[in-house]
Amino acid sequence: MIIKNGKVIIAGGGLAGISAAVFLNKKGYEVELYESTPKLGGRTFSYIDKFSNRIYDNGKHILAGWYKNTLDLLELLNTKDKLFKNHSFFLRFYDNNKEMHELDGRGLSGKAGFIKALLKYRKLNFNDIYAISKVIYACNFRTNKYLSASNLKEILESTNQTTNSIEYFWKPLSVSIFNTSTENVSTKLFARVIENALSEKGNLDLLVPTDSLHNVFIDSAQRYFRNEDIKFSLSHRIVSVETSGNKVSYLKDSNGNKIEGDEFILAVPFWKANEFKNVFNLNGKHLQSSTIITIHLFTLNDEIIKELFIDEQPMIGFLDTTIDWAFKESNNHFSIVISGADNIRSPISGKVLTDCTKEEIFGICISDLIKSLKEFSFPLIEKYKIIKEKRATFVPDKDSDELRPSNKSKYDNLFFAGDWTDTGYPSTIESAVKSGKICSELINEKKL
Ligand SMILES: Cc1cc2nc3c(=O)[nH]c(=O)nc-3n(C[C@H](O)[C@H](O)[C@H](O)COP(=O)(O)OP(=O)(O)OC[C@H]3O[C@@H](n4cnc5c(N)ncnc54)[C@H](O)[C@@H]3O)c2cc1C
Repeated sequence: MIIKNGKVIIAGGGLAGISAAVFLNKKGYEVELYESTPKLGGRTFSYIDKFSNRIYDNGKHILAGWYKNTLDLLELLNTKDKLFKNHSFFLRFYDNNKEMHELDGRGLSGKAGFIKALLKYRKLNFNDIYAISKVIYACNFRTNKYLSASNLKEILESTNQTTNSIEYFWKPLSVSIFNTSTENVSTKLFARVIENALSEKGNLDLLVPTDSLHNVFIDSAQRYFRNEDIKFSLSHRIVSVETSGNKVSYLKDSNGNKIEGDEFILAVPFWKANEFKNVFNLNGKHLQSSTIITIHLFTLNDEIIKELFIDEQPMIGFLDTTIDWAFKESNNHFSIVISGADNIRSPISGKVLTDCTKEEIFGICISDLIKSLKEFSFPLIEKYKIIKEKRATFVPDKDSDELRPSNKSKYDNLFFAGDWTDTGYPSTIESAVKSGKICSELINEKKL
């Protein structure tokens, strides 16, 4: 008979909840997870079109070498091999002069690879690189007066960044990592991310899932749960946390049932936390959210896909355009991503992108591809699908530094998990997975 350490109840089946469940199971705890929707995965999920048998993600999710906790989780879920890895820093871009540019650090790793990539990037001259290096130096050694600025935009102003360094380095970096523009990125978080990215060899490697999010994270988690006897209940909403003294007694579900355990983890998203006001109080404040728009394009032939993806790299970026990235999904399917869409206006109607019709967003996409590609072969589109994820991430502004809670609550047996808890990372898979792992460690430490 397996002796369990105690029973842990988790509310929320996104990656934070999944991570907490898996790492607690490894430590010998009995786990029960409750998810309010009919599926696990939260903000990482795939649509399955039963008619065409197609599967596509709510948005491409990119991982990086510094996602250590996520890689540990994928190892346990047996899906680590479903990631394309460059083994060096490498990014390819097209600009609106139809030129290709590469940030190519291949052959060298860590900081040396990064420096090589900057030196070879034809969008930057010596002055641009010098300006960038002042900021990187400040973050890496935390010695500099520039870090007293409250956001990335202020840092860029106080370090006299050049127009090129802003347009072709800082802006793409800000939307890709933080899903927002430079004025919304807190200095504290920015400095931590840069320091972390350059702290170890391999941290800058980009990892692109080669399979759907469903297959990489969700199906594998469900299989793991079944094999390990982790109970999970879908379409099962937790509505309150009942306390007595400094302890949680039970959670209540929407049918009024009591769910009892020894330890409890609230792994709900940032916009739901305020629903549990008795245990979690931000004094009426809340984290702001930021939108990601994904455009899936299914083509009748592979011409445009061959033109976009000239080798095995499954991801390319765009400069001077509304669209940010394109990802190869298969020989007749690619997806386009527009990050931080709340701060972008349509070049067609002038409306904020999140308010534009799907037809207009499709038009912007095609027009940007025409601007960027030399031999643009008009894709014969069989079908397109546009997904606006309005609460894809929280905005990591200065206020968020104060609003993100620690994983330990003021109650002895209650913990918080989620990408929005104070993990030191932006709103990412790694932050979610790390938060779940921290909760598992905090619970286990109580036993020692
Ligand atoms: C389009 C898009 C693109 C993204 N791209 C990237 C990327 O490239 N790289 C990256 O690292 N990250 C990316 N992210 C962010 C990443 O998806 C999130 O940071 C991560 O999934 C958050 O996980 P979580 O578990 O903290 O929260 P969630 O995924 O929001 O999970 C919370 C869960 O709690 C459930 N829940 C809510 N209320 C209750 C309740 N009362 N009772 C029970 N259950 C409840 C919800 O239904 C949900 O399943 C992207 C997100 C989106 C949407």
